[in-house]
Amino acid sequence: MQTKLLINGQLVAGEGAVQPVLNPSLGTTLVEIAEASPAQVDAAVQAADAAFDEWSQTTPGQRSALLLQVADAIDAHAEELARLESQNCGKPYAAALGDELPAVADVFRFFAGAVRCMPGSAAGEYLPGHTSMIRRDPVGVVASIAPWNYPLMMAAWKLAPALAAGNCVVLKPSEQTPLTALKLAELIAPIFPAGVVNLVFGRGPSVGQPLVTHPKVRMVSLTGSIPTGVNIVSSTAETMKRTHMELGGKAPVLIFDDADIDAAVEGIRAFGFYNAGQDCTAACRIYAQKGVYQQFVAKLGEAVGTLKLGTQDEDGVELGPLITAAHRDRVLGFLERAKAVPHIRVVTGGQAADRPGFFVEPTVLAGARQDDEIVRREVFGPVVSVTEFDTEEQALAWANDSDYGLASSVWTADVGRAHRLSARLQYGCTWVNTHFMLVSEMPHGGMKLSGYGKDMSMYGLEDYTTIRHVMIKH
Ligand code: NAD
Repeated sequence: MQTKLLINGQLVAGEGAVQPVLNPSLGTTLVEIAEASPAQVDAAVQAADAAFDEWSQTTPGQRSALLLQVADAIDAHAEELARLESQNCGKPYAAALGDELPAVADVFRFFAGAVRCMPGSAAGEYLPGHTSMIRRDPVGVVASIAPWNYPLMMAAWKLAPALAAGNCVVLKPSEQTPLTALKLAELIAPIFPAGVVNLVFGRGPSVGQPLVTHPKVRMVSLTGSIPTGVNIVSSTAETMKRTHMELGGKAPVLIFDDADIDAAVEGIRAFGFYNAGQDCTAACRIYAQKGVYQQFVAKLGEAVGTLKLGTQDEDGVELGPLITAAHRDRVLGFLERAKAVPHIRVVTGGQAADRPGFFVEPTVLAGARQDDEIVRREVFGPVVSVTEFDTEEQALAWANDSDYGLASSVWTADVGRAHRLSARLQYGCTWVNTHFMLVSEMPHGGMKLSGYGKDMSMYGLEDYTTIRHVMIKH
């Protein structure tokens, strides 16, 4: 197993505290890895800074060619990477290999193409005798901080646009799930010039904090929780770093009387529980209109009750464990508090699964009300709540009555309503009659406390550039 950090083109053992990395399906330790020491964090940033001048002068075509090599290396090692991801996160192996790995390689291929097509305004004479033009140049050293729910995918979302735009990167994967990023570091070390990509392993306070506050880091990109986002934005304010924040979510799902209920049930069964619900866009906060509410709850409970929970290679497994014992206990805390509310009914699930590892049963809670904790706070587990509503205006008001603003969906046969609500939902994404679908060409990112900055798409590439004006006197 590859456990070394990547600093200045060299794979080196960490010199900091040793951390266990677990298999959450069994609760066993897979490997122990030493964190980066403060000197190693500094060395990684210094290497990125030293590499920047030359790397930033490469052509888009040159950078594109290297990103395509990364995509090919990912394809060539897809089974090994999927195996590591599945072991380290507890994800079903088939889902890691079939769903995630192709999407990871595609992100590198998309940005390899996108950087050769960067759009911009035309040069012109806005002052007589002077020609003005706009440049989009790289920002400098980017510190990229990733979460544990899709470790390799998040590494790809961070690395590909930053490198395509000509930045140098120091990536810190989650201390809980570093294995695929460490393997990726080994695969890409020979592809890029020394210092262009660096990887440091370790926890937030010991490695993340010195990295993001390093004076030579010019931009910090985080996918993670809101408290971590707030911490990073405030601790980097003094050095005026650019920040790019992809934070938590609590996606509202509006199901109207005229919706195809079977399709909605199938959709929530899939998109409320994928990755055991540990997904910032998970379809978890459902509002069902009163004409279909009873029928929808009954059908959803039945469908979710058939979800197969299990370890990575069990036949037909659909749902893995939660990432850690602490996270499982946090999710169980939400369930216990919800079950104590008299008007909330457990339709299916509602407790830990009786097996080793950190499993929680897929759960549907009906009768939830707008002010209930289970409707308002991000659970990040296999739990959906269903709330009955009467009118379109009420559903819209409840959907928008949230501090989160990442993703939402509307299920209806009325195309006018679909447009009306898509225009008024205060979320970075609204799906109609589906949920969860992402493509490399389209932006992913939030509003409100879910953050700002876009991953993927041309907008993601632009986020990793700085706009500059060059004026030439004739
Ligand atoms: P987290 O905030 O605990 O950790 C995220 C990363 O930040 C980890 O690598 C961690 O080590 C690092 N970190 C923690 N403190 C830090 C500090 N002070 N300085 C620098 N780095 C620090 O989040 P998590 O538990 O790993 O991930 C789950 C959260 O991520 C959920 O809230 C989820 O909604 C969110 N998420 C959002 C998106 C999105 O696209 N918006 C995608 C996936 C996950």
